[in-house]
Amino acid sequence: MRVTVLGTGIMGAAMARNLLRAGHEVTVWNRSARRATPLAEEGARVAGSPLDAVAGAEVVLTMLTDGAAVEEVMADEGTLGALPEGCVWIQASTVGVDACERLAALAEEAGVPFVDAPVSGTRQPAEKGELMILASGPEELQERCAPVFDAIGSTTRWVGPAGAGTRFKLVMNAWVLILNSGIAETLTVARGLGFLPEQVLEAIAGGPLDSAYAQLKGRLMIEGEFEPSFPLKHARKDAQLVLEAARRELPLLEAVAEQLEHAEALGYGDADLAATIRGLTDVPARAD
Ligand code: NAP
Repeated sequence: MRVTVLGTGIMGAAMARNLLRAGHEVTVWNRSARRATPLAEEGARVAGSPLDAVAGAEVVLTMLTDGAAVEEVMADEGTLGALPEGCVWIQASTVGVDACERLAALAEEAGVPFVDAPVSGTRQPAEKGELMILASGPEELQERCAPVFDAIGSTTRWVGPAGAGTRFKLVMNAWVLILNSGIAETLTVARGLGFLPEQVLEAIAGGPLDSAYAQLKGRLMIEGEFEPSFPLKHARKDAQLVLEAARRELPLLEAVAEQLEHAEALGYGDADLAATIRGLTDVPARAD
C-alpha cells in the first residue's frame, strides 16, 4: 500500500520503519527535516511538505504531539483537502476527546474517511512493531487499515465508532501514569527508609505485586537513565487529557499531573517519564 506518515518523532519514525519492512511504499514528512531524512536510506520517500507527502497516498497516518499540531498540519496547511479520493486518514497521536471530535468533524467536512487509532506501547514496542492499536471508526474501513496496523502493531482492538479509541487510550494512560508515579514514590520511600531501591524490585520480582512496567521503569529510575521513550512532557499532556475527559474528581491523577508538572519545571520535559523520580528526590526531606 502507499502509506504516508506525517510526523517522524520517536513513535512515527518507528512506525514508518515497520511499514517499510512490511513492504509498503512509504512517504514520510516531519516538521524538522533532520528526523525524517534518515528514513530515506531505508527506502522511504522523504517529502518536503505535508501537501507533497500525501500525493498518491492510500492511507495517511498522523503521529504528532497533540491535537493542535495535528490540526495545524492537516487543516491549516490544507492537507486534508489534498488527500486523494478514498484515502483513509488514520489519526494515531494522543489528542484527547475534544480534539478527536474536532478532527473527526474536519475529516467529515472534507469527505475524508477517518479512523481514530491511538496506540498503546512506547519506543521499544513501536520499534519492534508490537504496539497495541486502539482503533475506532467505520467497520467498512477495518479491512483497509489492517495491513497498516499489522505492520506497526501486534494487537489491534476495534473498540467502537471514531472517538472510542481515544477514550480507551486515556483509560490505558491513566493506568500507565499511576503505575509510573507509584514506582517512583515507592523507590523514594525505600531510599528514605534506608534501603536500596534495587531491593524493592528484587522483592516484588515474579510475585503478585510485580509488573514488567515496574521492573522496566524502576531500573531506569535507579540507573538515572532518562533517554526518552515516552517524553515526560507528553505524559504531562496525557494526564491533563485524562482529567479533562473524565470530568470528575480524580485525586490520584491530579497528584500525578502535579508531579509531572514539577519534574517538567525542573527541566525534565524532554527526558523519559521515568525522570518523574527526579522531581521527588530533588525535594528535600522533611525535618520532623
Ligand atoms: P515526539 O518524538 O516528540 O514527536 C512529536 C512529533 O510531532 C514530531 O514529529 C514533531 O515535529 C511533531 N510536531 C509537534 N508539533 C508540531 C507542529 N505544530 N507541526 C508539525 N509537527 C509538529 O513524540 P512521540 O513520542 O513520537 O509522540 C507522538 C504522539 O504519540 C504523541 O501524541 C504521544 O502522546 C503519542 N504516544 C507516544 C508514546 C511514547 O511512548 N512515546 C506512546 C503512545 C503514544 P518536530 O520533530 O519538528 O518537533
